[in-house]
Amino acid sequence: MKEILLCKYGEIVLKGLNKSYFEKTLLRTLKDRLAGCGNFDVRAMQSTVYIEAMDEDSLIEDALERAKKVFGIVAVSRAAVCEKNMEDILRLAGEYLPQQLKGARTFKVEAKRSDKRFPLTSPQISAEVGGVLLSRCPRLKVDVHNPDVTVRVEVREEKAFVHAGSEKGAGGIPTGTAGRGLLLLSGGIDSPVAGYMMAKRGLIIDALHFESFPYTSEQAKEKVASLAEIMSEYAGKIRFRVISLTAIQEALRDHCEEEYFTLLLRRCMMRLADRVAEKFGCGALITGESLGQVASQTLAAIGVTDEAAKRPIFRPCIGMDKEEIVTVARRIGTFETSILPYEDCCTVFTPRHPKTQPELYKVLAQEEKLDLKTLEDEAFNRIEYREILSPMAK
Ligand code: ATP
Ligand code: MG
Repeated sequence: MKEILLCKYGEIVLKGLNKSYFEKTLLRTLKDRLAGCGNFDVRAMQSTVYIEAMDEDSLIEDALERAKKVFGIVAVSRAAVCEKNMEDILRLAGEYLPQQLKGARTFKVEAKRSDKRFPLTSPQISAEVGGVLLSRCPRLKVDVHNPDVTVRVEVREEKAFVHAGSEKGAGGIPTGTAGRGLLLLSGGIDSPVAGYMMAKRGLIIDALHFESFPYTSEQAKEKVASLAEIMSEYAGKIRFRVISLTAIQEALRDHCEEEYFTLLLRRCMMRLADRVAEKFGCGALITGESLGQVASQTLAAIGVTDEAAKRPIFRPCIGMDKEEIVTVARRIGTFETSILPYEDCCTVFTPRHPKTQPELYKVLAQEEKLDLKTLEDEAFNRIEYREILSPMAK
């Protein structure tokens, strides 16, 4: 029996004249992601992507898991295929569905024909398929209001498909259709979620991590690389860069007032991130900040931080509370890695009483006390680089 994956578009259907651009990007991404689990034909027709295994060795179960992580798709169904005639449809339903309905007590059938020349109406198709199921599985009952499983029969242009429900896709719009953004990636819970959310809105994600070796360890950096790897299951290949802030942090400690350390450091991060974004073609910066979460995320502190960057800064977690962010982190699989106990450069030389209501002119006066330009040039010139792509997305 031949199985196929049917992937339903989300927002792409609303794209009007640009639809084919979004569709092409989606198909390219799907082909790339599925390459690692076999030889698949990937085609789009009538706002559905058809994924068909081209040989016996291709792993449809793995393909399903990968397709569920591709942005732009809202639902994926694993379906059996047959010719467009009632005899074949009923035979297929009898062979395929009992296995799919194992454990279910109630069901209903919904049929849909996009080919209106098909001799039976949708209710007639539903009734006949329902009849086959009832005779094959005597324990099953029909419940049209609240069934355990909804069986779908779709009679389309070329073939007919039978399946027992769909799984939720990643939603959003295809990665790459909105340009490129630079994610400031720490080892915490919030920034991987922020990167995921912006990839979902079509951005290719580059990641920038700041370390402070030897105050932060090699393991701390590798933990951040692992987070990027998990994100890449959704976002695709991530260009991962690391800049050391050690010299800058020591100079801030030696020359500036303690209560301004964190803010001054965050402004250095933004200036450096802006330069990285400029050099590597990223149109926006992305952070995991959430309003009021810590001293550096008050409205005043965010205002002072923003002033240091030229690009828009996207903060998709800004209105979420920790619990909501954790829920997303668990769902995308970053949470367990994020909570591993490693140090971050933001926790090196943290002030005892950080400024929560900073004034820009006072912050600028602190910056005058040292040659930040030279320190930042030196940090920028020693940037480390590697590409990260999860084996699950290769
Ligand atoms: P997270 O959970 O993402 O670490 P957080 O709540 O701990 O965030 P902060 O440490 O104040 O908050 O950092 C706010 C944001 O600044 C982070 O979400 C991240 O985008 C960025 N950031 C913090 N530390 C680093 C770092 N070492 N390298 C790169 N970006 C960082
Ligand atoms: Mg953090």
